[in-house]
Amino acid sequence: MKSKFMCSLPWIHSSIQPTGMSTVCCEADHTDMKSYAYDHNEAGGIEVLSLANNTMADMINSENYKHIRREMMQGNVPSACMTCFKTEQAGGTSKRQTHRTLSIDELTQTHDDGTITPDIEILELRLGNTCNLRCRTCNAESSSLWVNDYFELHKTLDFVGNYNELHKIRKHLVRDWFLDENFYKSLSDKITNLKELHISGGEPWLIRQHTEMLKFVPDDTIISYHTNLNYDKETIMFMYNQLKDHKNVVINCSIDSIGDKLTYIRNPLNWDKAIENLNTIISLFPNTVICQTVSVLNFLDIDELYTYFKNNNITNRHYLNFADSPAYMSPYLIDSNIRKKTIDNLKQILPHDLVEPLNRYYNDIQHSSSTLTQFKQYTAGLDKIRNEQFGGMFPVLKDILWN
Ligand code: SF4
Repeated sequence: MKSKFMCSLPWIHSSIQPTGMSTVCCEADHTDMKSYAYDHNEAGGIEVLSLANNTMADMINSENYKHIRREMMQGNVPSACMTCFKTEQAGGTSKRQTHRTLSIDELTQTHDDGTITPDIEILELRLGNTCNLRCRTCNAESSSLWVNDYFELHKTLDFVGNYNELHKIRKHLVRDWFLDENFYKSLSDKITNLKELHISGGEPWLIRQHTEMLKFVPDDTIISYHTNLNYDKETIMFMYNQLKDHKNVVINCSIDSIGDKLTYIRNPLNWDKAIENLNTIISLFPNTVICQTVSVLNFLDIDELYTYFKNNNITNRHYLNFADSPAYMSPYLIDSNIRKKTIDNLKQILPHDLVEPLNRYYNDIQHSSSTLTQFKQYTAGLDKIRNEQFGGMFPVLKDILWN
């Protein structure tokens, strides 16, 4: 057996999308379903599997997952894994290299056709698209509150989202798997060695059925959530009671800006409510982390949130996440010289670990004028639907983008 390009993830990991479909990992190439769990149907076409119709075991031993594992065992680079291969060729460190290697036992127990006994160590579960926010950086695929806006926008803007396509695929999905307690119970014998459980949505704290699985997640598993701060205190207390006996719980709270700008970006999240909930969560979960998504909308003002936290003695770890897709929400729309000046200024204000990742924008890359036109059309369309006004909320950014 050659082992030039082995990666443990196709053996030990599953990344579940809101539709219940599974990919070998989030880094893999998702185009043409290359990284998805699928079988072939009798007509020779691709039949993508989903938890709506299939079991986790079906997906882990789907034809494509077995093919990816076989390719690796034969010393080939699966087409789904070209991102890692290219990163390594360019001298970088790939996601593949940051995960553990497979044991000899795991390899010898793998059947020649790539079949394995499911034993998941890292599980990413996106619990459907049920959500109570419709963030400008999000879409209908990930938020149910976005769906009406999507159909309204889509009447005139065909570049916005992919929900129509997913909707076609969804037609053959037979159940809302994430609402079904039996689904969570069915995982019990497949996650006895679970090391990391990452749960997001939609808004996962709205899907209480999922806590059924917390009963059999091993005590020392790292359990991390991405949550949006838009609920009542009873929801927080419910989640606290489900999680209080687990040792390693990390709550990533998404918050991108301050005051009315927060509501504009993460509609209809109210600033006072978000801060009240954040403080409650911090008081209950020592390992609460702030996740700020950086887009074209808040790039010029990233420091405002940090300054608020500093002035109010909120010292939890704070990190940045980047909205580069879709391209029309990316900071690359802003003129490169202005971006560099902004980052130079931010270096005077923000701690090194927070500002350093912004260097990804410290270059001459510039999105095209057609992408900027898409931003303007998208923004004007949503403003009309939501009765909001970009220019009034972000006057400096408007001057920059319109000149
Ligand atoms: S090689 Fe890279 S892309 Fe492929 S499964 Fe591993 S981490 Fe993901």
